[in-house]
Amino acid sequence: MKTLIKNGRVVDPSQKLDAVMDILVEDGKIKALGKNIAEAADEVFDATGLVVTPGLIDVHTHMREPGLEAKEDIISGTKAAAAGGVTTVACMPNTKPVIDTSIVVSGIKERAREESYANVEVIGAISKGEKGEELAEMGDMAEKGAMGFSDDGHYVKSSRLMVLAAKYVTAFDKPLLCHAIDPELDSEGYMHEGAVSARIGVPGVPAISEDIAVARDCIIAEYTGAHVHICHVASKGAIDIIRQAKKRGVNVTSEVTVHHLTLTDEACADYNSATRVNPPLRSADHVQAMREAVLDGTVDAIVTDHSPHAPEEKDVEFRYAPNGFCGLETSLAVMLTDLY
Ligand SMILES: [Zn+2]
Repeated sequence: MKTLIKNGRVVDPSQKLDAVMDILVEDGKIKALGKNIAEAADEVFDATGLVVTPGLIDVHTHMREPGLEAKEDIISGTKAAAAGGVTTVACMPNTKPVIDTSIVVSGIKERAREESYANVEVIGAISKGEKGEELAEMGDMAEKGAMGFSDDGHYVKSSRLMVLAAKYVTAFDKPLLCHAIDPELDSEGYMHEGAVSARIGVPGVPAISEDIAVARDCIIAEYTGAHVHICHVASKGAIDIIRQAKKRGVNVTSEVTVHHLTLTDEACADYNSATRVNPPLRSADHVQAMREAVLDGTVDAIVTDHSPHAPEEKDVEFRYAPNGFCGLETSLAVMLTDLY
């Protein structure tokens, strides 16, 4: 099977490539790249006026399997990814049961091989059941191909456990992906603490709930040498802590979501429960800081934190709505429209 993609603007930063070209694909592999490829193909696609790029990778998504299929599953989640140009997704382990054993890692990989529309990488839990009490069998999960480890949705509250986890993962060179938000400060509110929360009368969460947690995890990265990746950074204080750590040579990376680059807390002003997300949508100064951090390289990846819920779960009063919303279908389009 040969497919010829003609006259597309081929963009691939890894090859320093940005030019109008043809691409010949044979049996799923690129066979030729060049101007005016004349070879006969079974299928010819005219990409005039379109951009042709390698598939995007999203390192922070929730495929909701196993156990939460009313929200999303591997089929619907990877269909959304493919529709948005994302060909590899990494799925977080806050499922039912939690992805905290090698058998669950293998099961998801197996199911993804059979039924998915994109590559699925699996992130295992740091602690058993994401309870923050006892380390999960990260070595076993790594052996079965877990990409990294995270208690996403929860902060690993115990610094002692987090240090142990960091020492453990250095043995097999996998990152810890940290949901770095102080849970006690976080539990006091429902949106970003600032002028909008004060105006509409919704208790707010201070941005320092991120800063404090991010600082600790950067310190643990520095102490252990482990690769610590800070998930969904949304606070200007937190991103500056990461910037300083990187300058010192700490093995820390970070990601920012599409929504934290493009939406402010004004989106919450009409109590639309769809806008509830964690970290919350922040004020314009934080959004601007995140944009600057993308430009100066403090941010290593733009992600969606694609976190669908069933409509009946989300269609409730603002403060009762679960955090999270979809993003895979729209991430690239939003980035190109708002930022590029
Ligand atoms: Zn998270």
